[in-house]
Amino acid sequence: MPELPEVETVSRTLTLIAAGKTIESVVVTLPRIIQRPQEPEAFAAALAGHTIQKAERRGKFIRIVLDGLVLVSHLRMEGRYGLYDAGEPVAKHTHVRFRFTDGTELRYQDVRQFGTMHLFEPGEEFARPPLAKLGLEPLGEAFTLEALRGLLGKRTTMIKPLLLNQAYIVGLGNIYVDEALHSAGIHPETTADRLKPDQWRKLHASIRSTLERAVEAGGSSIKSYVNGQGDAGRFQHELLVYGRKNEPCPGCGAPIVKTVVGGRGTHFCVSCQPLPSVRRKRAEASSR
Ligand SMILES: [Zn+2]
Repeated sequence: MPELPEVETVSRTLTLIAAGKTIESVVVTLPRIIQRPQEPEAFAAALAGHTIQKAERRGKFIRIVLDGLVLVSHLRMEGRYGLYDAGEPVAKHTHVRFRFTDGTELRYQDVRQFGTMHLFEPGEEFARPPLAKLGLEPLGEAFTLEALRGLLGKRTTMIKPLLLNQAYIVGLGNIYVDEALHSAGIHPETTADRLKPDQWRKLHASIRSTLERAVEAGGSSIKSYVNGQGDAGRFQHELLVYGRKNEPCPGCGAPIVKTVVGGRGTHFCVSCQPLPSVRRKRAEASSR
């Protein structure tokens, strides 16, 4: 599933390729993608005549801002956008087509069919699902060390599922949580209330730096990218643990372990990311 860096990249690319284009008509061939309004005909009729101004990210959602409307799009597993000439053959799994007045067409393709689209009056989108209850943006100013500790510090559940929960912090998924926890030297099963102050500091810094570097590299997962401009996600080459089972840990050389934490496949280094009990024993041993 695309996470913050990938959705940020798709949003920026959509702005590049579609800003200024006016929608002439919309064709929906898989009605269940359209969540609001519920009738695809009403969705299409509402969008006709409106011009795209920009696309921005909120969490893992894309907000396509038009004059007088906002389209909130979630790519879920495999949704992707592409710009085509309207006459080009329509690829399999294309479910929504936005025909522009200039003869081009923005096409939404989704093999898994889990993606969603919601249409709102401007501003209304933040007060209603799916954006209403989203947590802090980890690259925003409000995401301070104090805010992170305030949100999670007293929780007695494991840190990994807490970081995946979009009600606390948005945008992090399986890839970047594993990466951030490795950079911070934290075992994914550590309960939040047992993290030490230096671990919170490292975690806060590593969440930001991991995401910033991934945004810079255009993300990791190339599947959700718009064709043309977008195919250049490079961060998969910089991943330290995710997808690297049995490969040597970049920190210590021990093989990366893959296990399941909170129902999710999880990559980490047993040696660089010790559980609190192991940390304590190591500290005792070194102080002797
Ligand atoms: Zn290691």
